[in-house]
Amino acid sequence: MSLIVTGSIGIDSVEAPTGVAEDVLGGSTVYFAAAASFFGKVRIVGAVGEDFPPQFLETFKHFDIDTRGLEKRAGSKTFRWRGKYHQNMNTRDTIQVQLNVLAEALPPVPREFRDSRFIFLANTDPGSQMQLLSNFPSSTLSVADTMDLWIQTQRDKLGELFTKLDGLVLNDSEAFMLTEDSNLIRAAEKIVKMGPKFVVIKKGEHGSILMHRQGVASLPAFPARDVIDPTGAGDAFAGGFMGYLAAHCADNTPTDNIPLHALRTAMAYGTVVASFTIESFSLDRMKQLRRGDIDRRFEHYRQMMRVGAE
Ligand code: AMP
Repeated sequence: MSLIVTGSIGIDSVEAPTGVAEDVLGGSTVYFAAAASFFGKVRIVGAVGEDFPPQFLETFKHFDIDTRGLEKRAGSKTFRWRGKYHQNMNTRDTIQVQLNVLAEALPPVPREFRDSRFIFLANTDPGSQMQLLSNFPSSTLSVADTMDLWIQTQRDKLGELFTKLDGLVLNDSEAFMLTEDSNLIRAAEKIVKMGPKFVVIKKGEHGSILMHRQGVASLPAFPARDVIDPTGAGDAFAGGFMGYLAAHCADNTPTDNIPLHALRTAMAYGTVVASFTIESFSLDRMKQLRRGDIDRRFEHYRQMMRVGAE
């Protein structure tokens, strides 16, 4: 599998009704790569500052993530984010964000990564997303995520990025903000008109919906009783989604030949991996996870969705 990702690699602090986690490993790239690594090796491109704790690097090793594109930049500081969840755990406020190294240039893509065919642009500055994408003009599948900060501050750049993408994965609130529409289906249709061939809109505990030029799919979330920290669920969903596709589609598959049912199965894997992520702060639950746990929960999820004649 030749899957590459760029996005944030950060130090997070999270306040939730279930507890507080200070200065833990986070970032969109990190959650994405950890989730995707259950399907094969993942390549990351990004920079951290000289304050990045060495023990966080051990986590990358644990997940067998290829860090040859990771730069520890002298004189720079790591991206930091602090979020606070509301009582219902579905909504949160960003209390503080320090872009730091995320506002600087992306490190170059290592020569060994040049044959990557599955490209994921996790949440980060749209300029960096565009920069990574420009290295892969003949990718099999290029998909991006974005969030409120970038929609508010760099809408034009995002618009340009969308014309170059195969797919977009984002939250319902971000889809509403982007399209200035409050109906999910209309918002999805508007996003597909902006350029991507498909959009996956995540609805937290209400599952996700795929709007594709070939049709529509809608999946529930995996019913979760023990939600400790939803941070990174969206990135883990994207990691499971892209990891499944990168592992199951040949590198030279034309994007238009990736069938709707493969995208639906990829969404189901994304849903299942994300359901583990939220069971702990940071990547603690994912660190204990084995591929067999994912496959067992996937089977359980599949059985739950069986309808029609037996
Ligand atoms: P999620 O819960 O899937 O939206 O992802 C949360 C992760 O995204 C956290 O680990 C944060 O470090 C990271 N994050 C928060 N804000 C941003 C941003 N503006 N750009 C990139 N990453 C961010």
